[in-house]
Amino acid sequence: MQLRRFYGDVRPDLSFQGIYQLAIAVVLSAQTTDRQVNEVTQPLFAQYPGFKELASAHQKDIEKIIRSTGFFRMKAKHIISLSREVMDVYGGKLPNSREELMKLPGIGRKSANVILSVGFGIPAFAVDTHISRIAQRLGYTNSNDPIEVEKILTSIIPENEWTSTHLLLIRHGRSLCLARNPQCDKCPVSALCDYFYNIRKK
Ligand code: SF4
Repeated sequence: MQLRRFYGDVRPDLSFQGIYQLAIAVVLSAQTTDRQVNEVTQPLFAQYPGFKELASAHQKDIEKIIRSTGFFRMKAKHIISLSREVMDVYGGKLPNSREELMKLPGIGRKSANVILSVGFGIPAFAVDTHISRIAQRLGYTNSNDPIEVEKILTSIIPENEWTSTHLLLIRHGRSLCLARNPQCDKCPVSALCDYFYNIRKK
């Protein structure tokens, strides 16, 4: 795949070690940048190294640490409640099914898919705004619905490449296929792209 040759081996931009840190970082990453999350997770994980510690945290203490990520009251509430549920319902271990993950506070389908694929190594394809936009520009779909985009992409991409393709597409969306002003002249997949074909025709 051209993107793989161009970007190489892409790693997640979120910093984490282990499934606890990944789950919390993913919840905190809503509506903010991974860099911003990485700045707060360092002190957060130093003080609260696991679900057990976070489950008994005080909301105000967490809010102070994660304030810069935005929506900090809701996020603090979510990560504390999530940790309590993991402790009370799952004996301290994060469940590894999409259905159960999506029942936890702050975790929707996209987050559950990231946790499954990146954290547990279970095939799943998380679709975010970058991936939706690129899939539309390349001509794979007209849909804005992430579940539809997920269905299309998982039907054409081999299962063992879902996680790496997810990471490559996010990198492409952040580097060249920007929402405004995509850098098509530098793009390794421009020859395959409907959007590029259409702007050249004009
Ligand atoms: S050619 Fe342009 S619009 Fe198409 S994938 Fe590349 S950067 Fe995005």
